[in-house]
Amino acid sequence: MSADIIDGKAFAATVREKVAMHVARMVEEHNLKPGLAVVLVGEDPASQVYVRNKGKQTAESGMASFEHKLPADTDEATLLGIVEQLNADPSVHGILVQLPLPKHLNSDLIINTIAPEKDVDGFHVVNVGRLGAGLKSMVPCTPLGSLMMLKDYHGDLSGKNAVVIGRSNIVGKPMAQLLLGANATPTIAHSRTANLQEVVREADIVVAAVGRPEMVTGDWIKPGATVIDVGINRIPAPEKGEGKHRIVGDCHYESCAAVAGAITPVPGGVGPMTIACLLANTVTAAARSAGLPEPEGLTV
Ligand code: NAD
Repeated sequence: MSADIIDGKAFAATVREKVAMHVARMVEEHNLKPGLAVVLVGEDPASQVYVRNKGKQTAESGMASFEHKLPADTDEATLLGIVEQLNADPSVHGILVQLPLPKHLNSDLIINTIAPEKDVDGFHVVNVGRLGAGLKSMVPCTPLGSLMMLKDYHGDLSGKNAVVIGRSNIVGKPMAQLLLGANATPTIAHSRTANLQEVVREADIVVAAVGRPEMVTGDWIKPGATVIDVGINRIPAPEKGEGKHRIVGDCHYESCAAVAGAITPVPGGVGPMTIACLLANTVTAAARSAGLPEPEGLTV
């Protein structure tokens, strides 16, 4: 195995340190305590784990953490009412509605009811549009964390060919926008892309956000390329015991690492950066709400 390992866990710890430093300074100098409100509807076990981790890390960084746990049969009017209440609450600077929502709720309507300046997930159409237009926005956390790692590893991304596999609004599309903003030349590949392997083999940077365990193998990767594996897939692991699982990415780690110049592991790559960037976005939102300068080191 020859690739450098891009250690997202360690990087996320440095982002969290910066977050805590900015929070301490904002509290001390401006009497401003950034606050993040997370709304969880229903009892999806993965979402419960995410929300618990987010709440814990928010509090550890010195911010205020607010959790709203609602039953799965919560109606739309009730949820919209809570979002409106958080929009109006001056102690809340960031609002996150945990997705996926139960099917009877209109996710687009709910996300687009969050005040854009408090939309720390960056999913509101105003933030999507602002990112596309190259304006100051709230940037979705997973692509933000991925770009931070790429910039940290490479410095300048000018002239690099980047292939993003996956065109979701949460990862693929904003990732491509960020790469474009960083002067790379992005291609968005997806389930209907012809000759996917050949397209990927042209890339200096591969970002895999597909949701298919270990789909990308070493023979897809140009020697020396950088691989950012966004995928989080739970697969059976009978070798660990009956009914056990393990987490793998969208890239086959061993074969890709044998060819790539650098790679993010799963777990321990993009995942920890995503939560760190949520905290970073909340601090940025709080600073903007008070007309303070952009906190250093928390955006790209
Ligand atoms: P999604 O299902 O919304 O989108 C997947 C995309 O992959 C689609 O655009 C589709 O066109 C493309 N695709 C599907 N099959 C393909 C194929 N055979 N070839 C090429 N493209 C194909 O998923 P998402 O929300 O973007 O998430 C993608 C992955 O990233 C999932 O594994 C998810 O768990 C993970 N994820 C991780 C984090 C994190 O914090 N690390 C955050 C969000 C998502």
